Amino acid sequence: MTVAVIGAGMAGAAAANTLTMAGIQVEIFDKGRAPGGRMSSKRSGQSYLDLGAQYFTARSAAFVQQVEQWLAAGVVRRWPADCYQYQSGRLSESVDDTWRYIGCPAMQAPVKALLDKKPVHLDCRISRLRYLQESSLTEAAGWYLFDQHNTSFGPYQALITTLPPVQLQTLLATGSHPGEPAYGDIYGLISQLQPQVLLPCWAVNMQLAAPLQTRADAVFVKDGNISWLARQNSKPGRANSSDNWLVHFSPQCSALHLQAEPVQLTALAKAEMELIFQQTISVSSALTHRWLYAQINPAVTQVKVDYNQGMKLAVAGDWLLGGRVENAWLSGVTAAKEVLADV
Ligand SMILES: Cc1cc2nc3c(=O)[nH]c(=O)nc-3n(C[C@H](O)[C@H](O)[C@H](O)COP(=O)(O)OP(=O)(O)OC[C@H]3O[C@@H](n4cnc5c(N)ncnc54)[C@H](O)[C@@H]3O)c2cc1C
Repeated sequence: MTVAVIGAGMAGAAAANTLTMAGIQVEIFDKGRAPGGRMSSKRSGQSYLDLGAQYFTARSAAFVQQVEQWLAAGVVRRWPADCYQYQSGRLSESVDDTWRYIGCPAMQAPVKALLDKKPVHLDCRISRLRYLQESSLTEAAGWYLFDQHNTSFGPYQALITTLPPVQLQTLLATGSHPGEPAYGDIYGLISQLQPQVLLPCWAVNMQLAAPLQTRADAVFVKDGNISWLARQNSKPGRANSSDNWLVHFSPQCSALHLQAEPVQLTALAKAEMELIFQQTISVSSALTHRWLYAQINPAVTQVKVDYNQGMKLAVAGDWLLGGRVENAWLSGVTAAKEVLADV
């Protein structure tokens, strides 16, 4: 049996690893040039800048155990950040006992560790699916995947998807046609997906000409245009010759400025930082990244998407469990176990 996993983020990597450990063959597909998905860092000189997930936490016993393994392997380190919060125009220390972890040397390191020695097709955007319920004289039953060049992969005896719901809806719609046996099941699944469950986020990293005068490593911004600020070089293993600050815009502001130019966003991010820290800053260079599907929309409830036994189709992704890296991992493990229970 070979299982196809679409998406090489944390959910896909956790699913692929769980299946491999149970002796099942897997093939993983991702449209990106590297694994990691929303856990992604960009190289900057000798170090990395985290543009997506900033850190992760571990609450469930299973994930705590996984994080301990990553710590022992050196692909994860603890970030003892001095956290502040900014609310109603006031910056104040925000002390908590949360243990925050980051991937090392880059955020995607634990994802890469899970995918070690597994066949991953990168730069491979799955654009079309085909599910063949019964074998014919010329074709075996199962899932067939087609990439952006219409190259075909498969058949696979089971499929795990980890795409955000909007992209999953589009992809599933290519997978069946009226009159085909799986049509009803696939459209039933499409109708359960909540496209609004993930909201956008603009990320701006600013390299400062002179270090900012503050004890804060990170600021949770409770109101206004931005939601988060972090000194990237305060993270272990991210030492940089310059002071780098990463700004995440709030979902509302990101949605409003979805088509904005990098220069406009950088100007806004600089103004927000000056307001919060009450200092003039000079930006020597900036990097922007737009995440269309970033973090959970608290106003939307996504129902559980059941495993489809007939088609051996499992859906995973952080958004099924309320977002966050830990939930991405849990959803991937759960999807793999659903497939394993069915072989
Ligand atoms: C700005 C931002 C800040 C965040 N901050 C935090 C934080 O501080 N703490 C925390 O715990 N979490 C945070 N998160 C959330 C965290 O990054 C996610 O919960 C987690 O990485 C999701 O993993 P996933 O595998 O479910 O999805 P993804 O990482 O999105 O993986 C899905 C993968 O599918 C691939 N894909 C999509 N379509 C196709 C296709 N057609 N064909 C092939 N491949 C495809 C994508 O390239 C991607 O690699 C943040 C996210 C963002 C964007």
